Amino acid sequence: MSKVIIIGAGGVGAVVAHKCAQLPDVFSDILLASRTESKCKAIAAQIERPIRTAQVDADNVPELTALLQREQPELVINVALPYQDLSIMDACLAAGVNYLDTANYEPQDTAKFEYHWQWAYQERFRGAGLTALLGSGFDPGATNIFTAYLAKHYFDDIHELDIVDVNGGDHGYPFATNFNPEINIREVTAECRHWEDGAFVTTPAMSKQARFECPEAVGTFNIYRMYHEELESLSKHFPGLKRAQFWMSFSENYLKHLEVLGNVGMTGIDPVDFNGQKIVPIQFLASLLPDPSTLGPRTRGKTCIGCIVRGVKDGHERVMYLYNICDHEACYREVKSQAISYTTGVPAMIGAKMILEGHWRKPGVWNVEQHDPDPFMAAMNAHGLPWHVVELDPAFTLDVVQGQGL
Ligand code: NDP
Repeated sequence: MSKVIIIGAGGVGAVVAHKCAQLPDVFSDILLASRTESKCKAIAAQIERPIRTAQVDADNVPELTALLQREQPELVINVALPYQDLSIMDACLAAGVNYLDTANYEPQDTAKFEYHWQWAYQERFRGAGLTALLGSGFDPGATNIFTAYLAKHYFDDIHELDIVDVNGGDHGYPFATNFNPEINIREVTAECRHWEDGAFVTTPAMSKQARFECPEAVGTFNIYRMYHEELESLSKHFPGLKRAQFWMSFSENYLKHLEVLGNVGMTGIDPVDFNGQKIVPIQFLASLLPDPSTLGPRTRGKTCIGCIVRGVKDGHERVMYLYNICDHEACYREVKSQAISYTTGVPAMIGAKMILEGHWRKPGVWNVEQHDPDPFMAAMNAHGLPWHVVELDPAFTLDVVQGQGL
């Protein structure tokens, strides 16, 4: 029986609130706090069980600390934006509260996606006897745990990892992002980095493309190699990895829009002068695009996200594929959100459950793959994200064709 505070009332925050509310024995008291309290109240109104709401600016450490000291929750589930990670971690330390997030810290003026800022909190959390769990969404999150689970149960050593994230859904808009537009576009337009022979190799964004046939008739998609933050922690925690790559599907339509928007400067993150005012182009663009939390009722199709791992077991090379398929419309029926928010929000709830029930409570700052994957994987099956594992032919390779670049 624990009190939690969820910070952030966007697409992901709504799913976390719904899913925590389904487990009153674990989450006995839920406070949903965000910058705009009316969004918290709108989410609370969808949920049968009463949950409380509050207004808070998570960039303001004293204000957030005061809220945490007043409420004394066991845990903060941070599903605001990556810009708030450090201020929320500071407030948690000041108020003696455990911490969880789904995306690593990013300074607003550079799209960096690096863990070192948050790993630097290790001794402070350890010293305070508090647990901080980083990256408990789907990717990062479930993909890290899938890798750890395969390494534990199917291999003696793992050598190659391909994380493949396919969204086969269609929302019917010419251009919209499935989660926060600013964060999404910063991520997709960043240079690609992948892990190879002990170092990160940089290549232009979207310059390597492959065709991928999803299982269970989800379809065949163009996937593009890009940088994703879990590559940093996984290459550190699985030092036997010789190569680790991340691939995501994009439609031609999405990439064409992004190319044009980039060419005219609309994806820039540096402020420009407009009629005597400073405007950040990507923030202006984000304000024009559909709010991802409104995509639920219009999105059809499925996501298919998983990890392909090559390694050695008992002296023999093998390739295993572990994946989850999630249906946008089924998610909407359950929690009034599309599958991208759902696949992020469910692992955030499960990570919180792992901490509150003691499975993953350990003072310090941890990435999810540093814990035992088994209780988390069991909870995925029980709470809406069932997974499957299949063995592929050792001759399997991704069907690579050269991409155009952005
Ligand atoms: P949204 O933009 O829909 O929601 C973000 C919410 O955070 C909004 O309610 C916003 O308030 C609130 N917020 C922003 N700044 C502050 C602040 N200073 N203080 C308090 N609240 C604030 O984003 P999403 O729900 O799509 O994404 C949430 C997080 O999940 C992001 O960090 C994203 O990177 C991460 N994510 C992780 C994934 C994974 O698989 N690991 C996948 C998808 C997303 P307001 O309404 O006032 O703007």
